[in-house]
Amino acid sequence: MSRFSIAIHGGAGTLVKGMMTPELESKYRRDLKAALDKGYAVLAEGGSATDAVEVAVQILENSPLFNAGKGAVFTATETHEMDASIMDGKTLNAGGVSLITGIKNPVSLARDVMEKSEHVFLAGEGAMQFAKELDYKLEDASYFYDEFRHQQWLDIKDTDSFQLDHSTKKDSKFGTVGAVACDQDGNIAAATSTGGMTNKKWGRVGDSPMIGAGNYANNKTCAISCTGSGEFFIRGVVAYDVACLMEHKGMSVEDASNEVIHKRILDIGGDGGLIAVDTKGNIAMPFNTEGMYRGQKSSDGIDEVAIYG
Ligand code: ASP
Repeated sequence: MSRFSIAIHGGAGTLVKGMMTPELESKYRRDLKAALDKGYAVLAEGGSATDAVEVAVQILENSPLFNAGKGAVFTATETHEMDASIMDGKTLNAGGVSLITGIKNPVSLARDVMEKSEHVFLAGEGAMQFAKELDYKLEDASYFYDEFRHQQWLDIKDTDSFQLDHSTKKDSKFGTVGAVACDQDGNIAAATSTGGMTNKKWGRVGDSPMIGAGNYANNKTCAISCTGSGEFFIRGVVAYDVACLMEHKGMSVEDASNEVIHKRILDIGGDGGLIAVDTKGNIAMPFNTEGMYRGQKSSDGIDEVAIYG
């Protein structure tokens, strides 16, 4: 049995002083810890990294605090369009969905794309048709309604701007969620889920459901889940870039992750962070923003949840 570990994130961004009350902070910590513990329990029982990341992301999707699932942000037309992906580093199988609505746990639909279709990426109406054929229950809009999110949207709805859930000046909420894990057999996996950006339009899709950009896993190198300004993470092919630095330059997961977040993505103007794990259970969680909701737990005793830098 090798060392096993899991890391999660609930988005990276700017924290405006005064917005985060002690009560709110303890709610964030509670939900992050619940996701971390549940994912870790899967690993401790000998479960796969893929099962662990799916379960951890489901818990974060079920929390209204994060911009994924229940807490997804509003689009320009006052709807919710969610994106998610999952990848298994042992087989390189992957699944992604984007522009889906009414699905409680987008990460599970992404996993079904990976396991029950011949495809990797389904979007919009087609993805919804796929969900229907698998008898997914559709939640109505009220399940996804959150007063804070609605106000965020009302503030910019008549403008052309769209914004990161976590970068608006008035916002104390970060967003997108993700998990990476290394199981007892040394297999790794990554999952990411998001509501995208507030007031997004024209079917905008970010990095989160794109394999290689916001999410990637390969037993040769590492498993990664990203958060931040998606347009830059797509251009930087960030998740794959970390894996490439490890594979082709022989860098450690920590050095490769730092190089991408503190240099390569910054150089092209991107802000955000990522979580990564290698097949020895080593974890890296760099971010170039003020904070990133995050947590890590491993079989050698690491167990922590953190928000600020
Ligand atoms: N990366 C996500 C997107 O651009 C947003 C986030 O991480 O909060 O859709």
